[in-house]
Amino acid sequence: DLTLDVVRVRRDFPVLEREVHGKPLVYLDNAATSQTPRQVIETLDHYYRHYNANIHRGLHTLADEATAAFEDTREIVRAFINATERREIVFTRGTTEAINLVAQSWGRANLAPGDEVLISQLEHHSNIVPWQLLANQLDLHIRVIPVDEHGALDMAAYQASFNERTRLVAVNHISNAFGTINPVREMATIAHDHGALILIDGAQAVPHEAVDVRGIDADFYAFSGHKAYGPTGVGVLYGKAALLEAMPPWQGGGEMIRTVSFDAGTTYADIPHKFEAGTPAIGDVIAMGRALQWVDEIGISLIGAWEQRLLAHANEQLARIDGLRVLGTAPHKAGVISFVVEGAHAQDIGLLIDQLGVAIRTGNHCAQPLLHHFGVDATCRASFAAYNTPEEIDIFVEALERVVGMVR
Ligand code: PMP
Repeated sequence: DLTLDVVRVRRDFPVLEREVHGKPLVYLDNAATSQTPRQVIETLDHYYRHYNANIHRGLHTLADEATAAFEDTREIVRAFINATERREIVFTRGTTEAINLVAQSWGRANLAPGDEVLISQLEHHSNIVPWQLLANQLDLHIRVIPVDEHGALDMAAYQASFNERTRLVAVNHISNAFGTINPVREMATIAHDHGALILIDGAQAVPHEAVDVRGIDADFYAFSGHKAYGPTGVGVLYGKAALLEAMPPWQGGGEMIRTVSFDAGTTYADIPHKFEAGTPAIGDVIAMGRALQWVDEIGISLIGAWEQRLLAHANEQLARIDGLRVLGTAPHKAGVISFVVEGAHAQDIGLLIDQLGVAIRTGNHCAQPLLHHFGVDATCRASFAAYNTPEEIDIFVEALERVVGMVR
């Protein structure tokens, strides 16, 4: 019934007016980072022009205003992902820091030599390497859930991967490399049935579908602002209150303490502040909240449905390029197309297509184990956002045809 008004959406993005190499920009690298609407840019600008101050400890007007806006953002995030309480929202530098926080705080406090962490073949390096570091520190075992030939998780193998040492499942909600949407709700139930917790890397899900951490029954859920129309360098760790409360701090500093003493030792602040040592990226956090409000104003379900239309259109158009193979053909996938073209290196395609104004991603997408499993080192990846149009996809496919003709 309702469809997204893409002309209106595009008006919010100043960058979409620019040209690249004399051609109108066609930005299809949204899985790496999304562009920023003027409302978010204005929020950041307004912060620095009017109430830039350090939070939580000032007694002056600017500090009060900054603290209020920062803490109000916790409520925006809480509502956006349907968490129970504000204090379950920890601000981090992004998904990467959120996962490292869980590994180093929860992991060190709760895991023992021989314990197992279950991750998947689909993971981004940021949901692999923190567990490898921890595994080296604690002598843990990492087990990997395999994927089928479409890049979907093998759920029978998932079920069979549990044993009495499995403590944690760490899996992405949507794969950045292939766009596969994982059945995280079902996966959470299975993890809990086996007495394990589940951490979900939601970096690619939050901008594309309604996320309900309570509905999923996620123990931890991580995402980044910059893939959801917000600024870079800020993100969120959601954790169930009881889990966060029981976890030790992982970084020490200002803001995260109650009292500090050389003699009597140091006591820590309550959650979430216990996990927010030092001065955070205050303006960026506030601007990230504005980005989530922007998504709400457009409607996440309209955005998701629009991106599905773009995905279908792109698949249709790309079919006419011979020798093009799409990697990641799971039935449930987001607006991401990863592909290789026979006789044309991904890198060459990326460089040449940029000359025609089209921005796509080429490389391993921080998912080397996945790409190697499919026998490639690099793919080209086009990924869609609310402001992309079918016309842009036509420009992209025509440009790709030209480029492939040139390099073959
Ligand atoms: N996980 C996934 C699935 C991602 O796509 C990304 C970003 N490409 C990350 C984690 C890391 O996010 P960040 O670099 O913002 O910490």
